Amino acid sequence: MELKVKHVKLIQKLLNKYLSVNLRVDGNFGANTKNALSTVDELDKSWGHKRKAIGFIQLSSNKNGIDAGKLDGYWGPQTAFAFDVLNEFTETGIMPVNWRDIEPLNINPNNWPKQNEVDLVNFYGAVGENQKRLLLPYPHRLSWDKRKIVKSFFCNETIHESLSRVLTKVLETYGIEKIKELNLDLWGGCLNVRRIRGGNKWSTHSWGIAIDYNPDENQLKWGRGKAAFAKAQYDDWWGIWEEEGWVSLGRTKNYDWMHIQAAKQ
Ligand SMILES: [Zn+2]
Repeated sequence: MELKVKHVKLIQKLLNKYLSVNLRVDGNFGANTKNALSTVDELDKSWGHKRKAIGFIQLSSNKNGIDAGKLDGYWGPQTAFAFDVLNEFTETGIMPVNWRDIEPLNINPNNWPKQNEVDLVNFYGAVGENQKRLLLPYPHRLSWDKRKIVKSFFCNETIHESLSRVLTKVLETYGIEKIKELNLDLWGGCLNVRRIRGGNKWSTHSWGIAIDYNPDENQLKWGRGKAAFAKAQYDDWWGIWEEEGWVSLGRTKNYDWMHIQAAKQ
């Protein structure tokens, strides 16, 4: 993450208030701003300047009742989201609507297992096994080549019926025109036997129990401030998945908003 003018400006404004100093609010991360950050008691003295800057955004967010997560000086989706809220609040004096954490529906009518290898193998079989072709109730478009139409894809046989019910309900609820308009048909893949990015555990895609939608506009590290599927207009769509016990990593963890899985956290 790079500290941009908008980040530094907010930090300068808040430092002026917090420390009763008089920094020029110019977005320039110079010596005066760095020195001021070094005098903030709550920030670890051993941290570098940038880490202190991020830590100060977290600290200020938390003090304003906006959950930025742990005060660790690291930029993640939670901090990015908190920054957007804090920035708007500081500019306007009004908390943006819909900024609070979403409470996803957490029921489990199909008894999806917990997301760990033992439970997943017991429930779904070995990675890559027990796959069945799902005929889609409405055509999907390949997210990386939108002219290509997908009429079916492979998924785990255990989730087959549930997935079919979800997609049928999406079609009934929205109709094909609205589905296209909202990009609910932009398919980013299901079965894919691979390790989690940056880890050695199997991705839930390895069992064919996870689906990605519209990855371009819901990138892995994007949080609520940026991901398309975090917008209120998608609440009903998420509700259809959650009624069947499916889990959105976006709705529960605020990252990887493209990803929906039949495994509990
Ligand atoms: Zn995924």
